[in-house]
Amino acid sequence: MIELIVFTLVAAFVLEASLEQLNQGSALKKPDPLVADLYDKTGREKSIKYGAEKNRSSLLSSALSLSVLILALTFGWFADLDRQISKSIDNALLTSLVFIWLLSVISWWISLPFTLYSTFSIEKRYGFNTTTLKLFIVDSVKGTLISLVIGGPVLALVIWLYQEFQGSFWIYAWALVAAVSLFMFMFGTKLILPLFNKLTPLPGGDLRTAISNYCDSQGYSLKNLYVMDGSKRSTKANAFFSGLGKSKTIVLFDTLIEKLTQDEIVAVLAHEIGHYKKRHTLASFTASNFQTFAIFALFGWALQYDQLSETLGAATPSFHLSALTFFILLTPLQIVFGLINNSLSRRNELAADTFAAQTYKRAPMRSALSKISTDSLSNLTPHPLYVAFNYTHPPLVARLRNVG
Ligand SMILES: [Zn+2]
Repeated sequence: MIELIVFTLVAAFVLEASLEQLNQGSALKKPDPLVADLYDKTGREKSIKYGAEKNRSSLLSSALSLSVLILALTFGWFADLDRQISKSIDNALLTSLVFIWLLSVISWWISLPFTLYSTFSIEKRYGFNTTTLKLFIVDSVKGTLISLVIGGPVLALVIWLYQEFQGSFWIYAWALVAAVSLFMFMFGTKLILPLFNKLTPLPGGDLRTAISNYCDSQGYSLKNLYVMDGSKRSTKANAFFSGLGKSKTIVLFDTLIEKLTQDEIVAVLAHEIGHYKKRHTLASFTASNFQTFAIFALFGWALQYDQLSETLGAATPSFHLSALTFFILLTPLQIVFGLINNSLSRRNELAADTFAAQTYKRAPMRSALSKISTDSLSNLTPHPLYVAFNYTHPPLVARLRNVG
């Protein structure tokens, strides 16, 4: 089975590398007349170079992770680590927790040089990065603490459920994960985001009046509309909708407000309200729960096979070693789920654009999309396969054509 595990990992990497390669070639293609004059010659060259540098860095990062994983599989490092932890901790649940935590720490350190290079070299050189090293460290510490405080107990409960219920644990574990993700879905923006960013209600003035008039016309309450200080990390403009029902929230980055005209900002806001009106968040939440249900069901079934642990070189099977093998072997299914989710998301983006064009105005929606795209040096001619695997938002040409 170890051959199958290595094959799965290598195949996933080859797929990723081939898609990057295809996309590199596609970036050099002549753009559609719709977007042909959005970049001047230097702008286009800059966009191609930026894309190439980002691709190279992410491929190198994947290649390093893959190499370390293959070494670990070949030399039985996972079983060694398991033995070391079990020696000092005489408790199966704690052993699993420490093992999983250590693996995530190690993988964080492996990708750290690439994260640093991407943030402080690539993003900096192209004028996007505003993160300081101090902020980067503070963010990392906060991120780790949050994952320990929220992820730790959830993981501990899942392992405990497995110890108590064995074969039928997965249904309880799924229900637990679904409940936690529902909570995060509704309150994540309110509880977690303020730990990283300052959210302020949009101040009174022309923009607020224009937004308020539009919201009134749509019967949408303006209660949770915030401006976020995105500029403290990047100059890239963004906006998003989150939450369900009463917890619905729209966040506009300060960079968006700075770069777009008033009409364009209202159009972007109308797009976000479109996500709410068309129940997109509810749909994607439901879809992701179906997927975790399928994954947990498979996981529950697979855990009865001790070979999952033994193939990593362990003498005694354990939850964490079996889980590791299981999730590597699950990669093809995860890729299929990714394709489905991306396609669903891209369809929703087009529907939200249409909503904004119909309920507000067409022209500012078009110019806002063009500005946001070119401002972030995005690739105007991505390869369709690369889009299918990686894009949650359609390429600019498709969005402009859809808005009409
Ligand atoms: Zn959207």
